[in-house]
Formats: sequence, structure tokens, C-alpha cells
Amino acid sequence: MIIPKARKLTDSQVAEIRRIAAEFDCEIGTVVGANRNIYAILGEERRELLINRLSGLEYIERVEGIDAPFKLMDRRGALAANEINIGGVTLGRQLLVIAGQCTIDPKQPGLFLETAEAVKEAGAHVLRGGVWKPRTMPYSYQGDDRALEVILEARARTGLPIDIEVMDEHQLHLAVEARVDMIQVGTRNALNYSLLKAIGEQTAENGTIILLKRGRHMAEVNEFLACAEYLAANGNPNILLCPRGTLPALDEFRSHPDEAITPLIKQKTWAPVVVDPSHSVGRAAYVPACSMAAVAYGADGLCIETHINPRKGIGDDPKQAIRPEVLRSLIVEACQLREMRSRWRL
Ligand code: PEP
Ligand code: MN
Repeated sequence: MIIPKARKLTDSQVAEIRRIAAEFDCEIGTVVGANRNIYAILGEERRELLINRLSGLEYIERVEGIDAPFKLMDRRGALAANEINIGGVTLGRQLLVIAGQCTIDPKQPGLFLETAEAVKEAGAHVLRGGVWKPRTMPYSYQGDDRALEVILEARARTGLPIDIEVMDEHQLHLAVEARVDMIQVGTRNALNYSLLKAIGEQTAENGTIILLKRGRHMAEVNEFLACAEYLAANGNPNILLCPRGTLPALDEFRSHPDEAITPLIKQKTWAPVVVDPSHSVGRAAYVPACSMAAVAYGADGLCIETHINPRKGIGDDPKQAIRPEVLRSLIVEACQLREMRSRWRL
């Protein structure tokens, strides 16, 4: 990893380090961090002569090798100070709350616009809404390009940044064009390496934040971090890691709640952890408890399905969306718990 003295290198400086790397059969990848760019040496990066040549340039602070499978996501690495900001929140300093419907029904745009206003009132910082949906059955509602217009309208009205899931490159292209603030990689695509590469490449310049959900069949933390590494290595390290429950489910829950994995993730990476209690327990009645557990385990944020009138929703909303008034008290209590946690002796 090449760490520059300034926030980023100029084009001619990048050209110079590329030329030097090429002499050693290496390439240079640019990783656009929230507060500084770093430059990855792709290839045999450990040759002393290469490191000496690069470290000797007056605009380079240092060249770092890190002995970890995920060099960019590792908490000891060059991105350890990467600060992610969205919706007025700096991750790690204040609890981030993402809230909104599972699915936007383009036939009922008014419902989503009402939900958007209500989650803002309740204290959420980012508005979520499903435009395209990964559904288990091909006969279920699959989403609609028109729903993108609805969430863009909601952003314009509320001023909240927006979070939507993309499942393929066409959807990614539309999301990037619309300058969507946060792109979600769902649990089913967490291991779709081609999609992760495309997202990393195409979102780096926009400063888009990626909410990477944990694959529902994923076991080890390392497997999850390797997926984040794909995004970072392809240009965008501004990643929030999102446990959302795994399979097989715990009895009647939708998934096996996994918020307890939060401190294990944090031991290994600098990336913030934002827990999704909604897909974890899958029932509105247990969402507050799961949210509190997540905060107690040290989560930096929560992503909660919320609907103005869950019974009128589609997708997951009738079962697992909470109402805005529940969200409001949940946010107050979660912030109190976070404050209490800061006094625990760990
Ligand atoms: C969702 O956020 O609505 C969703 C489908 O999430 P997941 O990928 O976690 O199931
Ligand atoms: Mn959902």
C-alpha cells in the first residue's frame, strides 16, 4: 500500500508510480477513501527495490506491506483512519439509523413518501426503500424501475440520503447515474464477486457508501471481510458491514440472529458495523430487542424496516416492518444504551 503525503496524488504523480511499478511487473490500483486515497500495488509488492524506489519519492509518506489476507480492510492497515460520513453522522461517533420500507410500491408512491417523512421525524439519518427486490419465488413482486423515481422524490422532499439495493450491473448503472448515496449489496449477492468488483469500480468516484450485508450462509468473519476487500480493492473502501441473520433460522425466527458477531468483526477490521435486526428476527415485535442487543454488542448503526402502515406494504413489510412511532422510541433508547455502553469496562 502506498500512502501519499497529500489527500491524493496528482495525475502526473500517479503516472510516475505506475511507471515505476511497471518496471517490476506490477500495477497500481487507486482506492478512494473517504478522507484520503491510497494506492495499492497489484502484483509482487514486497520487493525491496520497488519499495525503496516508491518510498523515496518526495510526495509519498510511506509504503506499507501488511501481512493479512485482507490488506485494505484490516484494522492495522492504511485505511484504519477512514472516516465514513452520511446523513450528518460520522460512523463510530454517533449511532447511524437507516430506516424505511422493505419495498417501494410504485402504485402507491404516496405511502412511501409518507413513510419517508415519518422516519425523518422519528430521527433516522438515511432513508431505505427497495426498488428492485431479490425474491425467493419468481412469482413474487420483483421491483420496478419506476420505484427509483419515487425514492428520488422522497430524497428531494426530505433531504435524507437514500439507500437502495442493486442486484446487477444495469441496476448499478441506474443507481450510479441517479447518485444514490448508499448502495446495498443484499445477503444473496454478498458472494457475487463480479458484482462486488463492478460496484467497487463504478462507485469509487461518487463517494457512494456501500452497505454490504452478510451472506446468509456465511460462516467465518474472514469470508465476510474478503467480500468487503473485493469492493475496496476495486476502488471503494467506504463500506458498512451489515450482519442480518444467517440460515438455518432459529425456530420461528426468519434467520439465526447474529448481532453478537459485531465485536468479532470489529477485532479484525476498521469498517463500521451496521446491524439489520429486521431480516434477522423477521418479526416486528422482536425488532426492538434485537436492535438493543446489537447496540449492546457495539454496533455503530442499525438498518430497520419501517412502514407508515405495515399492513398495506408488500414484500417483508407486513410481517417485519415497525411503525414510525416505534422507531422513534427505539432510536432514543438505543442512543441511551450506547451512552451507557461507553461506560462499561470491557
Ligand atoms: C432487504 O433489505 O429488503 C433485503 C432483501 O435484505 P437481505 O438481502 O438482507 O435479505
Ligand atoms: Mn426486506
